[in-house]
Formats: sequence, structure tokens, C-alpha cells
Amino acid sequence: MESGRRPVALVTGGSRGIGRAVVRKLAEDGHDVSFCYRSRSEAAREVEREAKELGAQVLTREADVTDPEAVRGLVQATEEQLGPIDVLVTSAGITRDKPLVTMTDEDWHSVLRVNLDGMYNVCHAVILPMMKRKRGVVLNLSSVSGVYGNPRQTNYSASKAGIIGFTRALAKEAGAYGVRANVIAPGFIETDMTAGLGERRQRDAVDRIPLGRFGGAEEVADLVAFLASPRASYITGAVVQVDGGITI
Ligand code: NAP
Repeated sequence: MESGRRPVALVTGGSRGIGRAVVRKLAEDGHDVSFCYRSRSEAAREVEREAKELGAQVLTREADVTDPEAVRGLVQATEEQLGPIDVLVTSAGITRDKPLVTMTDEDWHSVLRVNLDGMYNVCHAVILPMMKRKRGVVLNLSSVSGVYGNPRQTNYSASKAGIIGFTRALAKEAGAYGVRANVIAPGFIETDMTAGLGERRQRDAVDRIPLGRFGGAEEVADLVAFLASPRASYITGAVVQVDGGITI
């Protein structure tokens, strides 16, 4: 990195939940941060304000990760306004939970489009400049659902398993160019996504978690910040679970 320059992070889905906690944490750790969201501009403005208060330069953009043109525009604007991207965190994601027997083609394709194609679009747009500069960190949000599978989530589990395969392949392609790529696989984290589960499914989940509670978005952001930092300089191709022990 050019001496004196603050590292630059790009975060997708930064307006809410885990992405929001990641924007805050990376700003706190000294990054300038660019983030996108799909439609909730009010929530995004609030995150922008919080990150600025933490001393970061911030770029906020409404950009749908399923739209490659919009993603390329976001990456270009980030590099022009903040500088070369050192850290990419792909957190934008959706669920459309249903048993396979009642799943519609649209339930399937919408989840794959946002979670898997969206992650691909962003990685594809940032990877060459990172490899040319021989530095960079890619952190993709998967899920324990992508490692072990979850009932009612064939679409989501497939998308999150795809992210693991993609990231491991990328770690092998990009390692020689000084770029690390890792997967973060959270269990149940308290965000709008899990609020939609309903009380009974939430209670059933808590019963299966050895730590006896859902995680906080900040607890995922702490892992992201560690993996983004030089302290994790020998970690690549890893799938790191942050799940309160639900999978043991
Ligand atoms: P969330 O609270 O529902 O927030 C989703 C974020 O993604 C929002 O910022 C949303 O923007 C953005 N987004 C959705 N679709 C998008 C699109 N097409 N283009 C751009 N941005 C889009 O979700 P979360 O719980 O923080 O989850 C974050 C990531 O962690 C996801 O990939 C999820 O699969 C993964 N994860 C979550 C959990 C959990 O328990 N929460 C567990 C495992 C893995 P708007 O605000 O504009 O809608």
C-alpha cells in the first residue's frame, strides 16, 4: 500500500445486518469504506453517517449486485473516489425459505441470482486490479447452511455451498498474486433475515445452539476484521464458522 494511504474496503449489503456491522468495524479499524445496498436508502444513510463519525471516508451507492453494469460502476466509483480496493466483503444476500416440494422456479432463481451470481459479479469486477497490485483480501459470506444443508433452504444452501467452492478455487488462482480469499460461515445471527423466521423456529434454533443464543452481527464483523487484517496473512481458502457451536 502507498505509505500513508488508508486501506479501502468495499462491502455489499452494507445497509443492514452483518454488512452494516462490517462497515462500522472496518471504519473503526481505519479503512475508508464503500458499500452498496439494494433499496433501503434511509438505512444506508444512517450507516454512512456512523462510519463517517468513526473517521472514515465513505461512498454509499444503491447498486443491485445482480446487475453486472451497476457493480462495475460501483467498483469504478470506489477506485476513483477512495482509491484501489484492498478488501472486498460480499454480504448482500436473501432467503426464500420453503420445502423443495412447494418451491417455485422464481424462489430458486432469485436466491441463486442474488447470493451466487451477485457474489461472482463483485469478485469478478475487483479481482484483476487486486492481482495486478499483488495485494487484496476477498471475504465472502456463506452460511453453515452451505456447509451442512438446512431443511426449507435447498435454494439458499445451494447458493451458499457454491460460494464455498468459488472461494476455494479463487484462493488457489489468486494466492500466487498475493490475494487471499476466505469464507465466513455464520450460524444464526440476530438480523432482519432471522427475524423473519418466526418465534417457533427461532426457539427451536436456540435449543440447538450450545452457547444458548443467536450471535450478534458485531461478532461476525470482528471475524471479518481479523481476516481482513495482516494478522491473518497466512490464512486463505478457509471456511471459518461463527455459529455458537450449532454444528458440533
Ligand atoms: P439482512 O439483514 O437481510 O441484510 C441484507 C443486506 O443485503 C441489506 O443491506 C440489503 O439491502 C442487501 N441486499 C439484498 N439483496 C441485494 C441486492 N440484490 N443487491 C444489493 N444489496 C442487496 O441480511 P444479514 O442477516 O445481514 O445477512 C448478510 C449475509 O450473511 C447474507 O449473505 C446472509 O446470507 C449471510 N448469513 C446471515 C445469517 C444470519 O443468521 N443473519 C446466517 C448465515 C449467513 P437493502 O437494505 O437495501 O434491502
